[in-house]
Amino acid sequence: MIKVNEKYDAETLLETLELRITTARLKVLSIIIPVGAAVSISSIKRQTKGVNGITLYKTLKTLEKKGAIYKLFDLSGTAYYAPGRFRASKQLQTYIHFNCPGCQKMIASPPQKKFTISLPKGFKARLVALCVWGKCAICRKKESHLMV
Ligand SMILES: [Zn+2]
Repeated sequence: MIKVNEKYDAETLLETLELRITTARLKVLSIIIPVGAAVSISSIKRQTKGVNGITLYKTLKTLEKKGAIYKLFDLSGTAYYAPGRFRASKQLQTYIHFNCPGCQKMIASPPQKKFTISLPKGFKARLVALCVWGKCAICRKKESHLMV
């Protein structure tokens, strides 16, 4: 079993998840795993030339269903995919990303050890994927230079 934050490769992950190793799955995971943060769907499409749209869509769905990746959206509704923790953990999984509309960067936070949220009665949360929108340090610096 692969542990959270342990270095792993796409093939090992597919074997761990008992998923057949396919070219599309390897390509998608080899894009997302090294980045360690969210990658936009357009970037994934660009980097998976040769994989048709339907196969890519099914691949993302399968990997998402198995917890290898998860999906989140920026303010414009663009989908991003990030590596999941892929363990059949009973613990609440919390992912927080910071999105800068200025440069479209999606920055991942380290795993949250403490996270509190009020849930509706009887609701059992398994995953929290938050996106915080704002300006990154580089864009803020560019703005402050423009103001001088
Ligand atoms: Zn920025």
